[in-house]
Amino acid sequence: MTAVADLYKNYINGAWVEGGAGTIAVDNPNNGEALSQQAAADATDVDRAVQAAQVVHDTGALSDLRPVERARMIQKMSAYISANKDRVAPLLTLESGKPLWEAEIEIDSAARFLEFYGNQAESLEGRSIPLGASYFDFTTFEPYGVSGQIIPWNFPLEVTARGIGPALATGNAVVVKTPEIDPLSHFIFGEAAEAAGFPAGAINILCGDGAEAGAALTAHPGVSQIVFTGSVATGTAVAVAAARRVVPCVLELGGKSAGIVYPDADPQQVLDSIRWGVYFNAGQVCSAFSRMVLHESIHDEMVERVADMAKGLSVGPGLERPTFGANMGAMVSEGQRDRAEAICQRAEAEGARAVTGGRKLNQPGYFLEPTVFDGVTETMNIAQEEVFGPVLSVMKFSSDEEALRIANGTEYGLVAGVFTRDLDRATAAAQKLRAGQIYVNEWFAGGVETPFGGFGKSGYGREKGREALYNYVQTKNIGIALG
Ligand code: NAD
Repeated sequence: MTAVADLYKNYINGAWVEGGAGTIAVDNPNNGEALSQQAAADATDVDRAVQAAQVVHDTGALSDLRPVERARMIQKMSAYISANKDRVAPLLTLESGKPLWEAEIEIDSAARFLEFYGNQAESLEGRSIPLGASYFDFTTFEPYGVSGQIIPWNFPLEVTARGIGPALATGNAVVVKTPEIDPLSHFIFGEAAEAAGFPAGAINILCGDGAEAGAALTAHPGVSQIVFTGSVATGTAVAVAAARRVVPCVLELGGKSAGIVYPDADPQQVLDSIRWGVYFNAGQVCSAFSRMVLHESIHDEMVERVADMAKGLSVGPGLERPTFGANMGAMVSEGQRDRAEAICQRAEAEGARAVTGGRKLNQPGYFLEPTVFDGVTETMNIAQEEVFGPVLSVMKFSSDEEALRIANGTEYGLVAGVFTRDLDRATAAAQKLRAGQIYVNEWFAGGVETPFGGFGKSGYGREKGREALYNYVQTKNIGIALG
């Protein structure tokens, strides 16, 4: 049995505290039953966290350190999280619905982000700009101060590590607002911060209602940089709050990403990519392979193979799915599952054909069948609206121009894929696809090292890789007139 506490507290200024807004009930999407309670921060709690982070910044407790000292603390956080994987993964499964092996991957990935950004802490260097014999001019990078970060529920630990890693590496203090639906396993960041020796107030982790604690964080005058991952609607509100105070923000929003499958594609590469791209995390992935733009000459055969693969996934409670294989877990909440099912019903009403799936499972918990829709056309709602569930839309094409038009035909632009053995064709398509990251012959090709972020309504700014470091620093130019 996994040990689940009755109450999970917030971590503010180095102390575990209850919240001014009472508690949030967290349920278990694997069976629909109550799981635990999370302390809910109110605006006063947010204010205390930001003030504590400001003190850390103003006293130089992080920013005055030699970068290697920050690097070592971030690496220690990483090691602590890895060492506690067996304790955290079951809790993450219970609160999010993901299979245990997926929860373990997420924890590995959170640790990896911290390892990577620990490594980068020493790498940010300014430059000297020649102005002739009378001047010495150079640039430095300075942290903004307090980074306020708003986290979504689909990869809660991974997204937090992705944001706090580069923030801390560059010398910022952080205040993290965790997602209401699955905040519990975030306790590990507070423990890891203590184990790594971060000063109190450098890392604050709190949960609360988005409209109250989230809005209070993004509007707080002490927050000097904002990182938001979530929906377009909330991201827009966050961008407005940031603009009002003229602070920069990074927005990682949704997607409706397409993979173009040409006639010479390797079918196994396509199948593997669909398996990971649509059914990993029950499709609750912003960069999901949600539209397969498929050449007419291989259409029938590929649709059959993909549908067989989807039908072969065993769907059920995450703790009963401890190892990688043909399985899938619950969606995170009843609301998300019902929303996805309603999008499927609308697709059928508009003329798409459910080759398999499209319905919720008749059992406790928030399960949706792995789904494949064929005959999806560009004007259907399901070709445009992000499902955020285990649902693939197949769209047929006959010419390369048509494939690119379909792939680029949404307001989003997070990622895109190309499947072909022809390097010229892949390169030409990669250049024309309107997305922040292009995968050739493998969905999710890349890693923590590669920049990630969207074109269009998928947001702006880049997370991951060295690119992300520049979100967290401002350039200062120093010009010295020589006597
Ligand atoms: P959401 O926008 O409803 O919530 C995200 C976070 O914002 C939560 O922590 C929430 O409490 C907070 N929030 C809500 N209202 C707020 C406000 N007024 N001010 C500040 N914070 C507020 O999104 P969600 O439903 O939790 O997540 C699903 C969406 O997120 C999908 O559209 C998905 O594509 C997107 N997403 C994107 C990425 C990415 O990296 N691009 C990753 C995960 C999820």
